[in-house]
Amino acid sequence: TPPRVVVVGAGFGGATAARCLAAGGIDVTLVEASERYVACTGSNAVVVGLRGIEVQTFRYDALGRALRLVRASAEAVDPAASWVRLGDGTELAYDRLILSPGIDLRFDAVPGYGAEAAEAMPHAWKAGEQTVRLARQLATMPDGGTVVLSAPPNPYRCPPGPYERASLIAHFLKVRKPRAKLILLDAKDTFSKQKLFEAAWAKLYPDVLEFVPLAAGGGVSEVDPAGMIVRTDFAEYKADVACIIPPQRAGRIAGIAGCADRSGWCPIDPVTFESRLVPGIHVIGDAAIAGAMPKSAFSANAQAKVCAQAVIDLLAGREPESPRLINTCWSLVAPGQGISIAGVFRPTDGLLADVPGAGGVSPLDASDAVRAQEAAYGESWYRTITRDVFG
Ligand code: FAD
Repeated sequence: TPPRVVVVGAGFGGATAARCLAAGGIDVTLVEASERYVACTGSNAVVVGLRGIEVQTFRYDALGRALRLVRASAEAVDPAASWVRLGDGTELAYDRLILSPGIDLRFDAVPGYGAEAAEAMPHAWKAGEQTVRLARQLATMPDGGTVVLSAPPNPYRCPPGPYERASLIAHFLKVRKPRAKLILLDAKDTFSKQKLFEAAWAKLYPDVLEFVPLAAGGGVSEVDPAGMIVRTDFAEYKADVACIIPPQRAGRIAGIAGCADRSGWCPIDPVTFESRLVPGIHVIGDAAIAGAMPKSAFSANAQAKVCAQAVIDLLAGREPESPRLINTCWSLVAPGQGISIAGVFRPTDGLLADVPGAGGVSPLDASDAVRAQEAAYGESWYRTITRDVFG
């Protein structure tokens, strides 16, 4: 029989890997729990009413025509016997397994912030109902009100994401909610594209956005969703809208499979993305510890291609080649005003490391025309990648 590969998760990583394997003639089964995919990329614009959630929503019909797609939740993995068990009890045997389950939010990390608190204080860090909920709360908040947004400690999905969200919320308040304020609490002191974001905030939102880094007391110590209170060690904030983005870990099935270490994330070999903990299982996308590569859709897509080729090589008894991977992340600092960061990565001392001198960030003093062009690049990347992945 031809070798069988099972892929769990049809997001940016898993759907890409499955497509590459199918194109390479591998007998691949893609397992996905959700009816539809709702993309996080671009969802910060949904939060402030700049685009509809339908632009973010993709059906699996095209993917289902291109390969064998099973709509089920993967519940268990037996690495010794090499099978995955689905919610209905079906066992899928594999020669190699690829996990791309994305993230789980750690509802045990911030006192007071559990799954229920996320209804009053949405994270909107998994797109869908949460995104729409936060958008509705912002749309209906009073003029002169207070929004509290908390950014998590590293590592987490989409390093520039909280700061893009802060920028767009600040813009929304400036134009729609007179006298309203945004307090951005951060569990860190430094973050992605920081100089660019801070310059944009100083120029565009000086009276709207207050940034409180960790050193100034930005770490959230507790929340009270009933009273809409966010506490730090230094202060207490009463919010009209509170968006709490909690710490994260690899999606649950990665832990069940034994691939997550004590950090909650999955150490991998940077050439093949094979788990360092469980042979025969590969982990890609947000769930993986990919060294200097950020947890992004761009990264997940790039890692999926490298991993699929490595799996094809391993199944054919060939040694996989050492890869080069690229990531680019665009963010909006205001509607139609974009900034970006790009990097090139290669395996170095067992981790994915930056290739020195490659990549970089947008110039700090760019004109509005350049920022507008970057926003357009970001949007066209979104259209290309979602077409590529979901068909
Ligand atoms: P996901 O895309 O989350 O896919 C995981 C899939 O696995 C899901 O469909 C899930 O249903 C499924 N699944 C999980 N467990 C199981 C199971 N046990 N059984 C069956 N199915 C399962 N990235 C960018 O590159 N550019 C951006 O501009 C950008 N903006 C962002 C903005 C925000 C606000 C956020 C939150 C993220 C953003 N990202 C961006 C990050 C990007 O969304 C993620 O990095 C990307 O989705 C990771 O892909 P993945 O395949 O690892 O996980």
